[in-house]
Amino acid sequence: MAEPGTAVRSVVIIGAGPVGCALATLLRRQGRTVDLFERGAESGTTGSGLSFNLTLTSRGLDCLPRSVKRRLYLQGSVLVKRIIHHRDGAISTQPYGTADAHHLLSIPRRVLQDILRDQAMRAGARIHYGLACVDVDTARPAAMLRDDRGETRWVDGDLVVGCDGANSAVRGAIAAAHPSDLWVARDVIEHGHAEITMDYGDADPAGMHLWPRGDHFLQAQPNRDRTFTTSLFKPLAGDDRHFSELPSATAARDYCATEFPDVYDRMAGVGPDLTTRCPGRLRIVTCAPYHHRRAVLVGDAAHAVVPFFGQGINCSFEDTAALAGLLERSGSPIEAAAAYSEARVRSGHALADLSLRNLEELSDKVNSTAFLARRAMERRLHELHPELYTPLYQMVAFTDTPYDAAQDRHRELGAELDALCRGRDIRREQDAIITEFAARHGHRASGRWAG
Ligand SMILES: Cc1cc2nc3c(=O)[nH]c(=O)nc-3n(C[C@H](O)[C@H](O)[C@H](O)COP(=O)(O)OP(=O)(O)OC[C@H]3O[C@@H](n4cnc5c(N)ncnc54)[C@H](O)[C@@H]3O)c2cc1C
Repeated sequence: MAEPGTAVRSVVIIGAGPVGCALATLLRRQGRTVDLFERGAESGTTGSGLSFNLTLTSRGLDCLPRSVKRRLYLQGSVLVKRIIHHRDGAISTQPYGTADAHHLLSIPRRVLQDILRDQAMRAGARIHYGLACVDVDTARPAAMLRDDRGETRWVDGDLVVGCDGANSAVRGAIAAAHPSDLWVARDVIEHGHAEITMDYGDADPAGMHLWPRGDHFLQAQPNRDRTFTTSLFKPLAGDDRHFSELPSATAARDYCATEFPDVYDRMAGVGPDLTTRCPGRLRIVTCAPYHHRRAVLVGDAAHAVVPFFGQGINCSFEDTAALAGLLERSGSPIEAAAAYSEARVRSGHALADLSLRNLEELSDKVNSTAFLARRAMERRLHELHPELYTPLYQMVAFTDTPYDAAQDRHRELGAELDALCRGRDIRREQDAIITEFAARHGHRASGRWAG
């Protein structure tokens, strides 16, 4: 074990989910000894155990080694647009961005997990299964692990990293031992989610299909094998055991026939799909800082967000690159851990906020032609004046601008655009609005240069 201030030679990672494995690969490439301790069994599921698809964007993908990225592209589906199925049967599309690189890579969670675990092992990381972390000593630093028989032992390293997800035991142990040093807030939202089996039919494979219906929506992600991974997001009933107003298979079928008539005949098992399993709850966990002495929190252990921006794991992969980069630059684990918090906390908090706000966009706003016209105008503005304006979605998904900086910039420029658009027909006056926006900034820029 190294003294504070000396090099980080060995790292103990708790949790061999996608984020733990991605971090392990980066740290092994720096020549460190990496041991991952995973409470799940080797043959069983690691990760959250859920089967939904994850959408990766360049923000997260660019933090992974090129060989991993290549393997992910071979298995995932490239989605370039939202395909919006309106209530009246009309279909509209909304591109995710303005360039080829502006796409989502949708990949089944299990496939992502297998690729990242395989890569970590090839890089020389050791994964120990069936060992659950139950305590952490951040000064030593060390993690206490409990095996299947209930026996415990401590493992030491130069740094302990909690990659153990939204219910992180590492975070819990730090908060319990040092309550005044770690602030934690937890929340659940009223929406839950459940997977529905839906036949693919002749669906457009290049887009994320969306059925926005007010306070709820259906989402279907095409897979390479011409299947859909389909999820319903809807408020839950008071007991959380089923969705509101869907207490029975008959009610669930009636609901889908009314809300999604264009695809209802492709959901043969929707009654049991929505009633035999409890829907998943969606939680938000925020904390600060993301470290204590020589222990750090990475991924959902630091920030569990609702999935409406599809950025949870992208942010987590950014965490791994940030931590690995700081460890490379600083010889001291304590310095690197503190710098990691400094670099990542504001961004994580902003993502929690952005993700929650995007629920309204997915479930309702994309229904509105005025909203779609505004987004189209923003894309056009970006194409004409990329130095002046980047749409929020594009900045969040396809750049490495910190989430908090993206949010601030959008607030400021969005308010200006709001003022210019007020009372006008955006579709007819798009060019005039863009010209006025650019002129205002041109004047401002020349004013600054003149000063
Ligand atoms: C419905 C839904 C959809 C989502 N969609 C997207 C999306 O499209 N795009 C996106 O970017 N993000 C998405 N996310 C978020 C994404 O799933 C998470 O950000 C990601 O799984 C975090 O990975 P992780 O490795 O940090 O945590 P997890 O995946 O939870 O893995 C944690 C690992 O730690 C292990 N573990 C837990 N406790 C212990 C312990 N005490 N000791 C040892 N091991 C332990 C677990 O078994 C697991 O293997 C979505 C989330 C949800 C819920």
